[in-house]
Amino acid sequence: MPLTDIRARIAEAETAAGRPAGSARLIAVSKLQPDERVEAVLQEGQRVFGENRVQEAAGKWPRFRETYDGVELHIIGPLQTNKARQAMELAQAIHSLDRPKLANTFARLAQEIGTCPQLFIQVNTGEEPQKAGVLPGETDAFVAECRGLDLPIAGLMCIPPVDEEPSLHFALLAKIAARNGLEGLSMGMSGDFEKAIMHGATHVRVGSAIFGDRDTH
Ligand SMILES: *Cc1c(COP(=O)(O)O)cnc(C)c1O
Repeated sequence: MPLTDIRARIAEAETAAGRPAGSARLIAVSKLQPDERVEAVLQEGQRVFGENRVQEAAGKWPRFRETYDGVELHIIGPLQTNKARQAMELAQAIHSLDRPKLANTFARLAQEIGTCPQLFIQVNTGEEPQKAGVLPGETDAFVAECRGLDLPIAGLMCIPPVDEEPSLHFALLAKIAARNGLEGLSMGMSGDFEKAIMHGATHVRVGSAIFGDRDTH
């Protein structure tokens, strides 16, 4: 679907939710997409992109940044601590802070590097054993722990279970964020970003609806 259509759907959802235009930012998720598709979206003026893997992002974005000004990169996938430094140097935001060890690593590196990207704490709202994220019941304590480390916590992020109504998870994430005084809500993907905006998403992560199916081999 053309980028303009996605933007129009976001604008409609903002209006329907009684929210100001532009209050839900679009992160175009370019993981596993061929360079020419990413380039086409850059040429349409999109500057905010999301990548799952640090390795892939490092292979692709420094090159695009030589040609296109103002690119803002968000790392949205699970992060190993040994990739934390590279992620911090490459990205303006990281959406997958999901454990104390990673928080401690970010805090140490932030001292060393002198800056830190905006961080979103990933919450495992569906309490799925195979999924990353802190449990809803442990989130308040983890937010406090991260604040104690002076980390710039922008908000919370979730990926709802595939077989459940996403709205329940979006509402839960919004509730946890509100009681912790957090503004940022990274939620909503190709299939459900309008619902996420109804529930207050400030960042929607949309991949296949913009770029088409991913290259999975
Ligand atoms: C791949 C991915 C997306 C985008 O998913 P689509 O269904 O293609 O929109 C969003 N968030 C995360 C964390 C992802 O890994």
